Amino acid sequence: MATVSINLTTGSIQKEEIIVGIDLGTTNSLVAFINPDKNPQVINDTGKGVLVPSIVHFGSNGEVSVGNEARDFLISDPQNTIFSVKRLLGRSYKDVAGYQNYFSYKIIDDDTESLVKIKVGDAFYTPVELSGLILKELKERAEHAIKTPVNKAVITVPAYFNDSQRQATRDAGKLAGLDVLRIVNEPTAASLAYGIGLNPEETKTIAVYDLGGGTFDVSILQIQNGIFEVLATNGDTFLGGDDFDRLIVNYWIEKNNLQNQHDLPQQELRLKAEEAKKSFSHQNLFNEKVGEIWCTIDLETFEKLILPKVQQTIDSCKNALKDAGLTINQIDEVVMVGGSTRTALVKRMVAEFFNRPVHDDVNPDEVVALGAAIQADILAGNRTDILLLDVTPLSLGIETMGGLMDVIIPRNAKIPTKAGRQYTTSIDGQVNMKIAVYQGERDLVKENRKLAEFDLKGIPSMPAGFPKVDINFLLNADGILTIQAVEQRSGVKQQVEVKPAYGLTDAEVEQMLMDSITHAKDDVQQRMLIEARTEGEQMVYTAERFVQKNVEYLAATEITDTLKLVAELKESLTSGDKDLIHKQIDTLNEFTKPFAERLMDQAIGTAMKGKSIE
Ligand code: AMP
Repeated sequence: MATVSINLTTGSIQKEEIIVGIDLGTTNSLVAFINPDKNPQVINDTGKGVLVPSIVHFGSNGEVSVGNEARDFLISDPQNTIFSVKRLLGRSYKDVAGYQNYFSYKIIDDDTESLVKIKVGDAFYTPVELSGLILKELKERAEHAIKTPVNKAVITVPAYFNDSQRQATRDAGKLAGLDVLRIVNEPTAASLAYGIGLNPEETKTIAVYDLGGGTFDVSILQIQNGIFEVLATNGDTFLGGDDFDRLIVNYWIEKNNLQNQHDLPQQELRLKAEEAKKSFSHQNLFNEKVGEIWCTIDLETFEKLILPKVQQTIDSCKNALKDAGLTINQIDEVVMVGGSTRTALVKRMVAEFFNRPVHDDVNPDEVVALGAAIQADILAGNRTDILLLDVTPLSLGIETMGGLMDVIIPRNAKIPTKAGRQYTTSIDGQVNMKIAVYQGERDLVKENRKLAEFDLKGIPSMPAGFPKVDINFLLNADGILTIQAVEQRSGVKQQVEVKPAYGLTDAEVEQMLMDSITHAKDDVQQRMLIEARTEGEQMVYTAERFVQKNVEYLAATEITDTLKLVAELKESLTSGDKDLIHKQIDTLNEFTKPFAERLMDQAIGTAMKGKSIE
């Protein structure tokens, strides 16, 4: 259901709701939207800048500050200033124990809790709550800047985030009062910002190289029919521009012979080093002072210092390619993301490695948020020219005879979508039909996940095969599945709604897909056997009814011989040999055909055809 927004400046009702795109980063976060000119735009709340440092500070009187204000406390009040909370999202203490020293604040190892908590004064906060505060700040900035309530968002996460981390991101959005419509992979968003993947006709393989302040990752994506598939990711969660700064500081310490001095203005030196690094975007020599310390470095020296670090990222690219099973010349595009990709040496080495020019026109700090805004716009239904990128991760279908899965909406179908099929009854006078809805890729429903079950009641009593039950699946853009069953002759109708994605983690979806691949061969064999058995059972039922109903019109030998063949068919049903079952079905069919043709009444004839649910 669409919510109506009111534009607070004009008082007018906003028809199209605004869905923002949020890049919730380790160092900085930002929010973007599609402006009235239909272009993605990052939100710059007057005077506050585009980037919101992902930092939260808790004051002694309980006051909370987020972003630039909080950053000022990094030096003066480190224990109460929380940075890099994204590294803790959805993680357990075990996950982060190895780098506890990295944080200046206290992370609690609470055995009763599987996820970490952060102690600030006497209070405890979860990473979800802290991320929620950052998201709330972004939401408020957006509302202030565009003067419209913002209740819905698309939030990006690294491609390597596991389900727990994705769920934590979603929960953080919820805490901030945002309905998180989609969690999107950062490389996918970055590609969208460059317009890659917007044409449903094109198939492309792309590399997204993301070097930020503290993290590096490279993702290889394949885009086909508007679907983004992550083929491989690689990287280092502790490698980034901060390392470049540290290398510069160490170089200055060495140059000034300060190795043994312990009261160095570390923080000032670090900030100066960052300034020097950034200055190489427009000059070749940096020469300034921090107190009495000379901070001099030229571009050539800088590049020599950082070369091993950049080489490490190139090695990751090699590994990602290898994992994806691709060679360099199979990569069609290379997209640069993250502030540190402004470093000339980084651009050069990446372009050289992939043997092609890289995409770097869009601001690398903003590219992910801009792409998230494009995704948000697609979800809002404002871009009918391009396809909706969402697909159903698993097939949806119903149980048919023998416990088989009859797929109605196949996996990877773009949503919204609808599909239906007609079924009939298998028993004379059947007045109820059980409709069990499943999700999954296996041929047997018992291996899949049950979503719903209901009875279509009140079907008028008719011979088997007579009722025409239309079962329609409608999967809307929010992933809600509506199942409708209607018996055409009588108009009897029943409808239910389910949310197929509910409670199913990405890992579970992946597992279900993996299982379907592993068991594919067995499943096909089993399906063929069950189908043969079902057909055989139908045949037995029909033949017995046929004899029963037509005793007076059949010769005695016709009856005994038919029943003998029926018994043989029954016997074969227990054999597990589908070929034998088919053979018996054919024999019985051939034998009864002449007199069936003679006598067959329409009702029974229909019962032998078509599919039956039960
Ligand atoms: P991000 O985490 O994507 O916000 O990237 C932040 C990193 O980008 C920090 O290490 C910055 O120092 C770095 N950065 C920003 N501008 C430049 C620049 N012009 N040259 C090199 N690094 C930069």
